Amino acid sequence: MSYLKDVSTGLKPFSPLTTEDLCFECGELITAGAVRYDGYATPEELKCLYLHPSCAAIVGQRLITDGYPNRR
Ligand SMILES: [Zn+2]
Repeated sequence: MSYLKDVSTGLKPFSPLTTEDLCFECGELITAGAVRYDGYATPEELKCLYLHPSCAAIVGQRLITDGYPNRR
């Protein structure tokens, strides 16, 4: 996971699942900074997705809310 000041620049080690200017959470265009999340699309292939920073905070909280109590 990385913060990018500008999605059109910066290190991009993995190809995106969606276009780089689309927020995976809300579906709106990203016109400024973004959070890039890297994960496995297949057991051998990493991909990334992009989120508005505020949407990344929402996704993170939802993942914790749903995942943490059911982690075992
Ligand atoms: Zn968003």
